[in-house]
Amino acid sequence: RELTVDLGERSYPIYIGEGLLSEASSYFQRHGISKRSPLMIITNDEIAAHYLAPLQTELEAGGYRVHSAIIPAGENSKSLDMLGELVGEALEAGLDRKSAIVALGGGVVGDLAGFVAASYMRGIKFVQLPTTILAHDSSVGGKVAVNHPLAKNIIGAFHQPEFVLYDLYTLQTLPLREVKAGLSEVVKHGLIWDAEFVDWCEKHANDLLALSPDALGYALHKGCGVKAVVVSQDETEQGLRAILNLGHTIGHALEAVAGYNELLHGEAISIGMVGSARLAMKFGAPSQVYEQTKRTLAKLGLPVVLPEKYDVDKVMSAMMHDKKFAEGTMVFVLPTAIGKVEIRRDIPVDWVREVLEQLKLED
Ligand code: NAD
Ligand code: ZN
Repeated sequence: RELTVDLGERSYPIYIGEGLLSEASSYFQRHGISKRSPLMIITNDEIAAHYLAPLQTELEAGGYRVHSAIIPAGENSKSLDMLGELVGEALEAGLDRKSAIVALGGGVVGDLAGFVAASYMRGIKFVQLPTTILAHDSSVGGKVAVNHPLAKNIIGAFHQPEFVLYDLYTLQTLPLREVKAGLSEVVKHGLIWDAEFVDWCEKHANDLLALSPDALGYALHKGCGVKAVVVSQDETEQGLRAILNLGHTIGHALEAVAGYNELLHGEAISIGMVGSARLAMKFGAPSQVYEQTKRTLAKLGLPVVLPEKYDVDKVMSAMMHDKKFAEGTMVFVLPTAIGKVEIRRDIPVDWVREVLEQLKLED
């Protein structure tokens, strides 16, 4: 499967299929990645154990000079310190303006490696080789960043990749909890844009959880497709792109309260999407929207209620710090139907609190 992220001069393709990494060098060649300058693959220790050696061998067999940088797994690697270290490695490996940075991994590796590519020598080429389901989201759209101790993703850039090569085989080793969390963003892409796809996700939940390559290929194609269309209409987040934040106002607050290691991003936004659908009912959205949202996420093994231990006051105050809060009312992306959302800036704070209380009582 193939699709294009349409960004004029910066347009690029996303290839999705089984075993694509074993033909990586032909894709690199096709996209004009230079063989005269060295490449740097950035990956983490867990992913390297499965996929780095074969990839490096394949690229070298194709005539590429390859340096590999292996970082520790986990969100903590998305730091300025790590950026500095990787720039050091790039210099030592002799990367120049014609070199490319290759991200082999999930969103952490992709965001970090992308920011290395955006900043090294004021920007060099960048290739995304996603290995998580969540990365169908993070690898499309060109947002790259590292974290600051005071705020996530606060130091970053827009830097589009040359291409995205999504090898479905790599997903076979992904821990089940990460599979589910990634599917949460897949469902989000359906909920904001494509009602039929939400039906499909509900119907094929078990195939997805069983990592059926056909089901995964279809779902990632659809999910990337929605992200690509939204991003191509609003590359630098002036307007439309905000709809991608469905479930994220509550989700980010839950992550902040829970601590980033306890609740995965996809789990937090699953609860957030159910909350948004509840909130939407107060503005007249049919209850069927809420019910299908909840049912679909639950079938994918995602949390759809707010665990008792999360203090509603703490979640509320975390949300107030979120940048989507403005002038006494709150800003939310709310579903109006399955596959359709609106951005509302007039949400009474009390209504949000009420919904959080309700989210605790559901089962
Ligand atoms: P991740 O990159 O940390 O990967 C999750 C875990 O799975 C890690 O422990 C990793 O080592 C392991 N793993 C990855 N691929 C594997 C494989 N094939 N087999 C076995 N284990 C594997 O997390 P993620 O969920 O992919 O990404 C989260 C990050 O993405 C966050 O930092 C978030 O801010 C970022 N993000 C960015 C954007 C964007 O637009 N740039 C969008 C959404 C999320
Ligand atoms: Zn997200």
